[in-house]
Amino acid sequence: MFERAALIHYHEIGLKGRNRAAFERRLRDNLEFALAHLISGRVERISSRLLARVADASLLDEVCRIAASLPGVSYAAAAYVTSRGSDDMNAAALLAVREVPRARTFAVASRRSNTDHPVTSREMNRIIGQYIVDNTALAVDLSAPDVRCSIEVVQGEAYLFSRKFPGVGGLPIGTAGTVISLLSAGIDSPVATWRLMKRGAVAVGVHFSGRPQTNELSERLVVDIGSTLARSGGLGRIYVVPFGDLQREISLLTTPDLRVLLYRRLMIRVAERFAALEGAKALVTGESLGQVASQTLDNIAAVDDAATLPVLRPLIGTNKLEIIAEARSLGTYELSTQEHADCCTLFMPRTPATHATVAEVRHAETALEVKRMVGAAVSAAEYHDFVCPAYRAPKRLPGVRPAGER
Ligand code: ATP
Ligand code: MG
Repeated sequence: MFERAALIHYHEIGLKGRNRAAFERRLRDNLEFALAHLISGRVERISSRLLARVADASLLDEVCRIAASLPGVSYAAAAYVTSRGSDDMNAAALLAVREVPRARTFAVASRRSNTDHPVTSREMNRIIGQYIVDNTALAVDLSAPDVRCSIEVVQGEAYLFSRKFPGVGGLPIGTAGTVISLLSAGIDSPVATWRLMKRGAVAVGVHFSGRPQTNELSERLVVDIGSTLARSGGLGRIYVVPFGDLQREISLLTTPDLRVLLYRRLMIRVAERFAALEGAKALVTGESLGQVASQTLDNIAAVDDAATLPVLRPLIGTNKLEIIAEARSLGTYELSTQEHADCCTLFMPRTPATHATVAEVRHAETALEVKRMVGAAVSAAEYHDFVCPAYRAPKRLPGVRPAGER
């Protein structure tokens, strides 16, 4: 019996030159965190790959699936770990090709990394290929084989596999800094958040609830959405801001058509306060061009005018159906489509402005005590923490409390 391990490959990390070691360490830490309940030892760095050995072979597929779901992983392979002796490698190759049912053709692809092994890759392909031909009914097909037996030989051992779990790609979480994500309980913003996590960012969410004008359902949903997003280890915390009274104030003091934009400008300013506390360098929203009235180019400009940080909109050119498909595979769609009161529909005007100007919204805003409102929002916030190995919570948090402490 051979030892089993998930052999984890990454690609983009290789492009990062001098940062490479830091990227590898980050990915290793993220993997160790996500796999802690399934593996006993550490995840090892072995010449441009990572290896997670499993004590119980029945857990291997689960280990590969989880590893493949982490940003930065190009694929995880369900490998046999063997010595570099030809008897061992032959036997493991046979086990590996038999893992693919109903295959009729095969190919062997070996690779040696920095190794002193005397047999060249070509010879190894030939020798092991011959052994498979002699011991199975499989025929060789080098161009489109039903099963490809990959062999990777490193310094002290060899890894053989025929099953790969394709990864999400991207960059390891924790290599791109922190972003503040405006997280509604809708479909789009969780997907937007995931897109940034996939590019290596740690996300901290800010959710504006309609409380006390609405109930707490959106808050519970957003925390559930957060738990789903947090599976990849990329969500550190969600701040929940009761926003209903501030919206009410806006609706009493300003004209109806600009309300939504004024809510948004206030949201941006509150989010920037959390960005300052968290050391975040950008905001993220789930907007998609033209999807609703507030998402025209004019209105986006009218909202961005209130921001000092970059506002990233990773879904700006993505169609709704594409976003829905991504939300389904992320596992957030079911939560996002549950009925809940959305704070933006509170005091919603019948005809919101679709082409507001910056001058117009600035003028409308002079009726509001913006600074006091931002302060009130921040000090009424509560937060929920998630397990995130790359997240460091801010030390100083004036007035903000963990959920349940109030
Ligand atoms: P979503 O499905 O993400 O709610 P949407 O299509 O409903 O998006 P809007 O309601 O116009 O669009 O919201 C646009 C973006 O503004 C959202 O993607 C989100 O980033 C932010 N946003 C809207 N409402 C809230 C909220 N209550 N709390 C935090 N962010 C919000
Ligand atoms: Mg919404």
